Amino acid sequence: MASQTGSIVQQSLNALLEDKSFLQNLQDDAREQAFTSLAAILSTPNHVHKSFLRVPLDSGKVVRVPSFRVQHNDTLGPYKGGIRFHESVNEDEVVNLAALMTLKNALHEVPFGGGKGGVVINPREFSVKELHSICKKYVQYFSDILGPDKDIPAPDVGTGDREMDWMMAEYKSIRPGKPYRGSFTGKSVVNGGSLGRREATGKGVFFTLRYMLHDFLKENSKWLSGNDNIFGKTALSVANRPLKIAVQGFGNVGSVAALEAYQCTYLQNKVVAVSDRNVTLYNSEGLNIPALVSFTSKNGGDLPTTVEQLAECDVKADIEDRDEVLYLDVDVLILAALEDQVHKDNVQQVKAPVIVEGANAPITGEADTYLSKKGVIIVPDILANAGGVIVSYFEWLQGRETQFYSEQEVFKLLFDKMKVTMDTILPQFFGDPFPLRQNCYIHAVMKLSTILYRQGKLY
Ligand code: NAD
Repeated sequence: MASQTGSIVQQSLNALLEDKSFLQNLQDDAREQAFTSLAAILSTPNHVHKSFLRVPLDSGKVVRVPSFRVQHNDTLGPYKGGIRFHESVNEDEVVNLAALMTLKNALHEVPFGGGKGGVVINPREFSVKELHSICKKYVQYFSDILGPDKDIPAPDVGTGDREMDWMMAEYKSIRPGKPYRGSFTGKSVVNGGSLGRREATGKGVFFTLRYMLHDFLKENSKWLSGNDNIFGKTALSVANRPLKIAVQGFGNVGSVAALEAYQCTYLQNKVVAVSDRNVTLYNSEGLNIPALVSFTSKNGGDLPTTVEQLAECDVKADIEDRDEVLYLDVDVLILAALEDQVHKDNVQQVKAPVIVEGANAPITGEADTYLSKKGVIIVPDILANAGGVIVSYFEWLQGRETQFYSEQEVFKLLFDKMKVTMDTILPQFFGDPFPLRQNCYIHAVMKLSTILYRQGKLY
């Protein structure tokens, strides 16, 4: 497990070891021993599978593509996690992302374990036919370890419903007559996917922010007054003016979170900046997000990068450097691109008092410590970006029942589930000195530890 996740899991275990009311049957040497076992189990993946896919290219050449499936922990159910197509994929990254899935599912009480997959390619450099072949090969190489009750992949960076459809079809032909609908989630709706799955992560990211800044504080107004709580201060400071939001990354997660913010009627806000792999777009009066969504959908996912393209989609914005989005004077920064975007070399320039992690692990450990000491509220990935896996769970259930929910039902179920988690975590967070990330980890580790203990796995 990479250092930041590993060290927070260890800190959580240390805190729980001291809390004698937790697993109180375990005392003295037996307690020490059990917590040593827990550290060993939670810090190591169960399996790391690696293959070099043999892919024939359109040119007639054959290439070997490194690919991974990591199964971190299945204490709570079948392994679950996306498959990423990106040139920077590597084993450590996939292991860390799989561990985050274990914790995310435990935090939100989703009955899945943690897994993750990755293929080391830049998908933009391959034809549709070649990508189809890569997806089929991935399933062929890993088919023995995948399946609706074993390990259920979903989309991640560089993959979407098209890739999941291809992969499920290949799984079905490898195992004729066996259940297959639940083998992949994030499929297209016509192919057994859930309504609302594509939007689920971005909607969940914005819902988390809205719930914390609006619904929860409205119900718990004591947190608004008379203390140094920066959340209360932020909520108060924007009571009479729009909340200024910047979003890094304008893909599946970032574009939907930005659109949710733009359309939200609960919170007065404006999305003043968005960015992608090429550019930051800024307008202090707020950007026309629907126009940008429409532009990206017709232009391979990329935001406008020139004055002409901005005019074409009727958007008024300054064109800034790609990373400028991180350093703007805004109330909330939503990170929805990739890992390690805020790090020791740029963290001092980040001004937002509230940061929401739509991406997985977008802040390095060092930067996280620096920001937390400064009082910045970081809404961690495992809390904020669980919408995708929660709706994947609904998709998996719908596949089993062959009964499908309306989009309205899906979003209601999603927000109800995220609300239950936040109602558990937020009072603890406001009431004690741990950062929100550690509160979430402690809760997830408690859940996993209790089940491992009850299953007799600690000795
Ligand atoms: P995506 O491929 O749809 O979008 C990624 C976006 O980030 C694109 O707009 C891209 O241009 C931009 N980007 C890439 N490099 C960048 C850089 N250096 N600076 C700024 N922008 C950059 O991916 P996605 O599905 O939206 O996933 C984004 C993040 O959210 C990832 O960390 C992913 O693991 C996480 N996540 C995704 C889901 C999901 O359901 N898709 C669920 C949970 C977590």
